[in-house]
Amino acid sequence: MTEPVVLVLNSGSSSIKFQIVEPIAGHAVGSGLVERIGESSGHVVYDHPGGVIERNLVIADHTAALRAVEEVVAAAGRSLDEWGVVAVGHRVVHGGSVFSEPTVVDDEVVEELTRLSPLAPLHNPSNVIGIEVARRLLPDVPHVVVFDTAFFHTMPEAAATYAIDAEVARANEVRRYGFHGTSHEYVSERAAAFLGRKLGEIDQIVLHLGNGASASAIQGGRAIDTSMGMTPLEGLVMGTRSGDLDPGVILHLHRNAGMEGAELDDLLNRRSGLKGLCGENDFRSLLEMVAEGDPAAKLAYDVYVHRLRRYIGAYLVELGGVDVITFTGGVGENNPDVRRDALAGLGRLGIVVDHDRNESAEQRERRISADESAVKVLVIPTNEELAIARKTIALV
Ligand code: ADP
Repeated sequence: MTEPVVLVLNSGSSSIKFQIVEPIAGHAVGSGLVERIGESSGHVVYDHPGGVIERNLVIADHTAALRAVEEVVAAAGRSLDEWGVVAVGHRVVHGGSVFSEPTVVDDEVVEELTRLSPLAPLHNPSNVIGIEVARRLLPDVPHVVVFDTAFFHTMPEAAATYAIDAEVARANEVRRYGFHGTSHEYVSERAAAFLGRKLGEIDQIVLHLGNGASASAIQGGRAIDTSMGMTPLEGLVMGTRSGDLDPGVILHLHRNAGMEGAELDDLLNRRSGLKGLCGENDFRSLLEMVAEGDPAAKLAYDVYVHRLRRYIGAYLVELGGVDVITFTGGVGENNPDVRRDALAGLGRLGIVVDHDRNESAEQRERRISADESAVKVLVIPTNEELAIARKTIALV
């Protein structure tokens, strides 16, 4: 008997990422991407065990995009119906203060998500469009929303509160929410399982380093702090986002350079981080530039590592020491230099990375700390789609 499958959707403004996941077996049977929605030429790619299917066509809107998903999946031999899709899991970036758990979608949920859109104007509106379209095209199965913010709902008030006028903050829902929660939760559970320890008994730091990047402090399975805040801009240096910044910089740029909202948004979200410092946001290309002796790339790398170490230090103290530090995300999973430099010279704190284990290019879950290291250091590939599929099936 084949097991039920979940369709996982991550809808952006001009793209939809999708996976067909077998949540019990724990793997995807196919995954793909619809790109350039609403542009003059769109692109669909679907990767499945039998090969890769590609289509170039005009994709007018999200409805056309989802029809294209149905078409390529069927072209691979089995329609979504024939796969026996039992539910659709939607990734939603911002759940505000309202949503702390995965939730079955109904009209009220959609309304509430729409109300939350100002909190995540770059993400939530397209998430909502994706949900509405999918509900129309797949009306017979339940749809579940899984929030990037949910795992951090448990953060203590002291970690979630910005020290600004409390009335202004309340009126505008200004507080720290945290993001990448699905990944931090999944990776922390895998780390405990890898070590054969109970999640509730260990303290962890998880470093999710991808295009976006975030760190979290997790005490016995409960997140007590994370580096992203009200928006995914706060915290670590990212591909194109600044991470932490003196808020006075924004006031200064406004007063002295006449920068307004849209321009500041573009500066901080798309022209900062590694790209802002050296013109390159892809970490592999950045490393090549460093190897060629490019001083701007070297500085970008150093700023990136410096910020990362600052957060690791903060979370070591917040947790009063840790059992395990785990790297995940495209950079965290694949780049030994960042892992080495982030934890260099911490032998006195019981943190020692083993050179050969760190340099290994294996893709599986693994330990990279030395045998004598009191703190275990792990690399765990994240799998947000699987986590979303499992949360979805658990709910329906
Ligand atoms: P996203 O946040 O978009 O999901 P990923 O987690 O896939 O991103 O991470 C993308 C980043 O990982 C890119 O900067 C990419 O260069 C980097 N990356 C992927 N593979 C490697 C590698 N082998 N070495 C260094 N960086 C890598």
